[in-house]
Amino acid sequence: MLKIINDLFNMPRSITGEPIRQTLKYIKNKTLKLKIIKFKSRSKAFDWTVPDEWNIKDAYIKDQKGKKILDFKKNLLSIVYHSIPVKKWISKKDLLKKIHFDETIATAVPYVTTYYKKYWGFCMSKNQIKKLNSNKYFVNIDSSFKKGYLEVGEYLKKGSQKKEVFFSTYICHPSMANDNIASTALQIEIIKYLERNYKKSKYTYRFVFLPETIGSICYLSKKLRALKKNMLLGFAISCVGDNKQYSIIKSRFGDKLSDSALFSVLKNKKNLKVYSYLDRGSDERQYCYPGIDLPVSGFCRSRFHTFKEYHTDHDNLDYISKEGLNNSFNVFKSIIDALESKNFYPKNKFLCEPNLGKRGLMSTLGKKFQGKNKVTKNFLAYSDGKKNLFEICDIIKINLDEALFISNKLSEKELI
Ligand code: ZN
Repeated sequence: MLKIINDLFNMPRSITGEPIRQTLKYIKNKTLKLKIIKFKSRSKAFDWTVPDEWNIKDAYIKDQKGKKILDFKKNLLSIVYHSIPVKKWISKKDLLKKIHFDETIATAVPYVTTYYKKYWGFCMSKNQIKKLNSNKYFVNIDSSFKKGYLEVGEYLKKGSQKKEVFFSTYICHPSMANDNIASTALQIEIIKYLERNYKKSKYTYRFVFLPETIGSICYLSKKLRALKKNMLLGFAISCVGDNKQYSIIKSRFGDKLSDSALFSVLKNKKNLKVYSYLDRGSDERQYCYPGIDLPVSGFCRSRFHTFKEYHTDHDNLDYISKEGLNNSFNVFKSIIDALESKNFYPKNKFLCEPNLGKRGLMSTLGKKFQGKNKVTKNFLAYSDGKKNLFEICDIIKINLDEALFISNKLSEKELI
């Protein structure tokens, strides 16, 4: 995953244009079956209009001596994304009105966009702004707009059932590691895990890589019927590269299978933060919207908006870690293992409690405290073929990895 993040880091991605196309090409190379779905510029999707393609060749600011005091090629966050082209001398006073900075970190350059309003601007750190000492500056943003397409990548792995597991992440951000190249890397890894371990999977798996908001809106405008019909559960994934917290952003009413899946796997983690739909921020906004109402929850490590490096150039390769990425991967590995297990809905083979002692599953001595045995007994007591592993975790207060361990053991002994 770190290799993928490195490969994709230095690209001025936006919601349309060449860099996002190159990113999709890269993902296609890694996952082979990726299908590209195109939406024409200026076409409608619900209440939205697909914007024209935006591309940028170069941007800089020079002082009166001709010295570059800002160079887009050295820091891809140093322009406002989707800026209209500009090439002129302006006063320092006018330039300052066009510069955006980060309030909290004096050395950080913020990430700013203007997708739906014609505007241009630059981004600098507070410290860089302090150094501006020329009276006039030459500003140049060599950007262009053209009619083209907005593109979405979709990977579909058919299972023996039509019921689907859905994963969505966004690929429209330029060089920030946690938000959101880490999630692109994670989805690629999950696809590889499925291909390696569940060649013939029970469920169908659908992964989308899209520009945030407008991409999910376009995708939903085209696929809503199929998604509504078949989606069992889904996840909107973002910011998965740090190792600080685990965050669940619940579906609108917190009552979907995706909510209980995440709860079951993250139960008992000390660094778990649970947010309601009021704290939504990514594509869960669309997936759970009234009338759409898909069973989708948001998953992040430290949630967007909550870490100070968020949307700045300090969200770089140093901010994320191998442990963070691996632990994020393990969350979805456990969920997939549970879903694909033949005992996702475990069912007792006997009426009345089976004799665990004669199978070596509990001590044959009747003693006062037998805490560990109780968990196995509780598991069996709710294995009625109607409750799934996620629900059983909630009822008997264990996490999904423990439930998988117990269910495998009971299955070996032919008790479920
Ligand atoms: Zn973001």
